[in-house]
Amino acid sequence: MSKLVGFAAIQGGYNIVSKVEGLYRRALETYDASTKVGFPNTAYYLPVIYSLLGIKVETLEDMKKPLEFARGLLPPHIKGVNHLPYLGPLLDAGMAALFAFEIREALRYLEEPDFYLHSEEPDLEAGKIWLGAADDTVFRKRGVEFVDGTAPGFAAVVGAAPDTETAKLIVEEYQKRSLYIFLAAGHNGTDVTHQLLEAGVQIGWNTRIVPFGPDISSAIFALGFANRAAMAFGGIQPGDYKRILLYNKNRIYAFVNALGEVGTEWAAAAAGAINWGFPTLADTDIPEVLPTGICTYEHVVANVPHSELVQRSVEVRGLKVTVSSIDIPCSFGPAYEGERVRGTDLFAQTGGGKAQCTELVKMAEMNEIEDGKIEVIGPDIDKLKEGDSFPLGIYVQVAGREFQTDFEPIIERQIHHLINYIQGVMHIGQRDISWIRISKAAVEKGFRLKDIGVVLHAKFHQDFQKIIDKVQVTLYTKKADVDKLTKRARAEYRTRDERVEKMRDEDVEIYYSCTLCQSFAPSHVCTVSPERTGLCGAYNWMDCKASYEINPTGPNQPIVKGECLDPILGQWKGVNEFVTKASRGNVTHYNFYSVVKDPMTTCGCCECIAAVLPSCNGVMTVNREYIGDTPCGMKFTTLAGVMGGGQSSPGFVGHSKFNITQRKFIKGDGGLLRMVWMPKMLKEEIKDRLVKRTEELGHPDFYDMIADETVGTTEEEILPFLQKVGHPALSMDPIISE
Ligand code: SF4
Ligand code: ZN
Repeated sequence: MSKLVGFAAIQGGYNIVSKVEGLYRRALETYDASTKVGFPNTAYYLPVIYSLLGIKVETLEDMKKPLEFARGLLPPHIKGVNHLPYLGPLLDAGMAALFAFEIREALRYLEEPDFYLHSEEPDLEAGKIWLGAADDTVFRKRGVEFVDGTAPGFAAVVGAAPDTETAKLIVEEYQKRSLYIFLAAGHNGTDVTHQLLEAGVQIGWNTRIVPFGPDISSAIFALGFANRAAMAFGGIQPGDYKRILLYNKNRIYAFVNALGEVGTEWAAAAAGAINWGFPTLADTDIPEVLPTGICTYEHVVANVPHSELVQRSVEVRGLKVTVSSIDIPCSFGPAYEGERVRGTDLFAQTGGGKAQCTELVKMAEMNEIEDGKIEVIGPDIDKLKEGDSFPLGIYVQVAGREFQTDFEPIIERQIHHLINYIQGVMHIGQRDISWIRISKAAVEKGFRLKDIGVVLHAKFHQDFQKIIDKVQVTLYTKKADVDKLTKRARAEYRTRDERVEKMRDEDVEIYYSCTLCQSFAPSHVCTVSPERTGLCGAYNWMDCKASYEINPTGPNQPIVKGECLDPILGQWKGVNEFVTKASRGNVTHYNFYSVVKDPMTTCGCCECIAAVLPSCNGVMTVNREYIGDTPCGMKFTTLAGVMGGGQSSPGFVGHSKFNITQRKFIKGDGGLLRMVWMPKMLKEEIKDRLVKRTEELGHPDFYDMIADETVGTTEEEILPFLQKVGHPALSMDPIISE
């Protein structure tokens, strides 16, 4: 912490207390000590003093005690050396100044009863613009908004902006965020209140812009308001200063913006506000108080450009932006999640084998992206004809102080259900195999690609408040851009997948459930272990762990695997118990490492589906992108339709691409060497890993032994090939034992 700001604040504390002591003495010379004092129509006396010290100031005489208390709080002046640690003295000096401010304002009410207008709005014709303390009627009406969340907090703006336009811009940005703007003090002969009036902005409690008073001491009305909320709505007893201050820190998102030079009095006020957890952001070069301690993040931040003041303030205070309405032309909500877009309703689509559709969520630095920025690069839907396919890349950048790259896959996986929430739009799959179908009805209502960005921005803020502060969405529709994004995304997916590479199921006691897909497949429960990633390919053990950290009551719960019932097939007591409960009794047990015997349940988002081929004594698998026939007699879509309802279907199982080369893949059925057929594209996609894994299994030449559609698409067609190459599956135990 800077020595200078400490010095200024402590100096300010002394000045203010001395000045108010002087005013008090003068008042005692003019008025009788028993003269009534106080703010208009309130049961909270001088609310800061009452709430923090428990002292009821009703008469001039009563002011003596709190004033003495303020004097006693003043710390010794800072000497040249050994000034550490002195956040404590600094806070005390600030607090002393604030007690003195409140007495100063009460004296003004006594001496100049008409100084403040007792009203909710200024009377411009009479030239009365300063509203002073809110009375209890206003307080009740407005204070409740701080409690029910309609107003997250307030910005106390002191001083003046360099010009009226800047003042207007800053205040309007706060209004957009539903904050109250409390105005006090001026700078260079003007103040934000006058600047707003000049710019034609309506002010008053109704527009949430409240001009308290022309002096810095009138900023105390903001804190008095906050403390009354703690007493009235938080049920905290007057005098319980710790809880009053904590209530404010945790519940009222407030901060100070100092516009103009910060003199000693402002510095003292800023120091005082730190006690509430309210940081100060200044546009001038004052020494900063950056280490976090009392405020959620920094205490005093200097030199903030006006264009960034609002965003920085909101960030520093840790205020989470909630976007309450989702402004798109279609209806939106979980009700539309299961809705299909069938052939006759279809206007256009992306993905699903027709054109590339890729999704990627990446973390960004806070200053790298702009919250709410949504860009469509390339032609939008209105440039398409009915029946068209188009490439799409959905690139979401998120930033947050608490955000970690580990969270990227979790956020990315939400895109699926969120797009499905849009009426008339259907989303299947994830990562680079997404498929979006847009209905004619949606397009007629005005749906455009930008709306995907609107939805993601709003919902990510709503659902991940704790970790996300900014969301920027870019939608690419030019093929070259989509291909570029896809290439990058694939490298990202690989890195994510490989994070669990070295882990073994035996090494952990905890697996994670995933029930994200239950809205489509009600009895479906994925259990994700290090060596069995989620069948959608989007969630591995690490991801589920991170997801649980973000949302402990969410869809990814830890499962203590418990007693091992079958090490070969992969079955655990703890998992069975969990699955029974989570499937509401529909599924009582399953095996992790088998397709033949009671395999894990499958939902419609699996990347691949494996099937037993009895005459080949082996197993085949097919990926979603492959649209041709397969030796099991069914195409992927048919398989997904039959198997994807959340049941355990012996002989078939959904799995991720990555899982094919994980050590435990169908180990209970003989492992990867059982694989007799795969589409060529899938084989090629995972070639490196496949070769590496089969080398480990003692078959370096295995890659070429796996048949694909160029060999045949029926068991009869591929069997001679398998025999010719001497496929190891043919000499294994019968895959189906009686
Ligand atoms: Fe979760 Fe499984 Fe659905 Fe993937 S497929 S989101 S792991 S339930
Ligand atoms: Zn699913």
